[in-house]
Amino acid sequence: MSSDSKSIVRTRFAPSPSGHLHVGGARTALFCWAYARQHGGKFILRIEDTDQKRSSDAASVGFLRDLKWLGIEWDEGPEFVDRDGSRCGGGAYGPYFQSQRLDLYTKYLQQLVREGKAYYAFDTAAELDAQRKAAREAGRNYRYDRTAATSLSAEQVQRRRDAGEPAVIRFRLPDEPIVIRDEILGEATIPAEQLDDFVICKADGFPTYHFAVVVDDELMQVTHVIRAQEHFMNTARHLRLQEALGFRRPVYAHLPLIFNPDGSKMSKRDKDKALRAAVRSMGVPPVERAGGEVASISADTFAAWLKDKDRQLEFDEANALSEALGVPLPEINVDDFRRSGYLPEVLINYLALLGWNPGGDVEKFDKAFLVERFSFDRVMKGPAKFDRAKLLAFNHDAIQALSTEEFVRLFRAHCAEFHPEFIEHLTPEHFDLLAAANHKRSKTLDDQVRSSRFFIDGDESITYDAADKNLRKVMCAGEPTGRAHLEALLPILQGVSDWSVATLEQAISAYVQQHAGGNLGKVAQPLRIAISGTTISPAIYETLTILGCDATLRRMRRCIEAFACV
Ligand code: GLU
Repeated sequence: MSSDSKSIVRTRFAPSPSGHLHVGGARTALFCWAYARQHGGKFILRIEDTDQKRSSDAASVGFLRDLKWLGIEWDEGPEFVDRDGSRCGGGAYGPYFQSQRLDLYTKYLQQLVREGKAYYAFDTAAELDAQRKAAREAGRNYRYDRTAATSLSAEQVQRRRDAGEPAVIRFRLPDEPIVIRDEILGEATIPAEQLDDFVICKADGFPTYHFAVVVDDELMQVTHVIRAQEHFMNTARHLRLQEALGFRRPVYAHLPLIFNPDGSKMSKRDKDKALRAAVRSMGVPPVERAGGEVASISADTFAAWLKDKDRQLEFDEANALSEALGVPLPEINVDDFRRSGYLPEVLINYLALLGWNPGGDVEKFDKAFLVERFSFDRVMKGPAKFDRAKLLAFNHDAIQALSTEEFVRLFRAHCAEFHPEFIEHLTPEHFDLLAAANHKRSKTLDDQVRSSRFFIDGDESITYDAADKNLRKVMCAGEPTGRAHLEALLPILQGVSDWSVATLEQAISAYVQQHAGGNLGKVAQPLRIAISGTTISPAIYETLTILGCDATLRRMRRCIEAFACV
């Protein structure tokens, strides 16, 4: 089959549901989706969950949710109903979970065994290890030696299987070079010696990835296999299996890998690396400071993790620690970007640029543009670099291009999911006021959340560092000092009858005209320090309105006390 074939294009994304949807996987899904859309074809989602130990239902649901959030909707696949009631999935080629297709694989496995194209092998792990070791010592590459397994008679095999001896099924690899034709990488010939008789069915009766993928791509009528380059050598195996089973050969396109700007692989280890570096730079480990566990991580686990760079915290532990230490984690999975407040359309745009470009100067585009322009001949062969700063700049522009109403709506949805305490603590009007006041300062939906905590935290969590040079300058330098302004403002604010943006503006600007030479900053900065402990907050009238009269006055008094200015 060639790419200009008249048959309907059917592409598929086939994640193994362990962990979370990595941005690399999302990019694969995006290109599969765009190619199918461009050709009026179908995009299939298939969950490859035959590895029982590593797969989980929760992970599968997470993958579906993340794809749906990105707007990569599948025409066929697991059925999914989103929170808003919209649906995806279904189709005539299911089930779309491999774990529900075992009978189909068994049928084709038996066919190959019957035809002598595959055979049972009883080698134990220790025997295979010994063979590998012998190859290493003799300085040659290890290849499975089929002699012993294939010299068993059919009766011998049956007897040993009947006796319950564990056996795998191996594919009898024909001894000929394999030619892979790839839409991106061109043609490559793989000498037969680079492969061996690989396992197609494990001792537990489950097919291996290679076997299941080949059967499913055939039965689901997949015409184009678009996946990451790390599967390139697997394609050689898959072509051989297709020939042995009498299947069609889909078109193949292997996408470049995605690296960090420093050339390292983008992996979830990056999160542990960032956290470990932050903890080390703190001197006293946070567990010791907390006198026990930190972010629900026991002291022992914490100590072992800190020492061993190969250890990884669980997903929730890493997030809790990042929250507790105030250290942002590098985003790796789609879910991380969602949590960090990226907009799905921006992430999609950026992912499309990882290894593909539309030519010319165009960098910002939507899905419709991608569908129209996507082509394999503009996909790079070499690795793509994930530039977080560029993605953030894209997101910043997109957030600033939103109307305030739209930003408020998105911020509300973001908080409902990730920071419900803001919705619980603030009245709807104050929540909207806060969102609107944060809009112009936001690069993501999340980046003002931390600095907005003082709105909902109790007075006691606001601390005043009277030794801090910057704070001291605002509070104690000049004439009158910031502290003196606070003292003078106390009775004025106390007298404001209707605590609202308009009345506060009136009262404070009248004061500023009279006592601060019309310079609002001279008064707004000490006020900010009083209510938040820092010099950062949204516009001052909105800020005071949201915080409320009582809390504002209480914090002003505490602040006046904290800065003695002597
Ligand atoms: N389950 C495989 C993976 O997640 C799919 C590879 C393929 O597309 O064939 O890497």
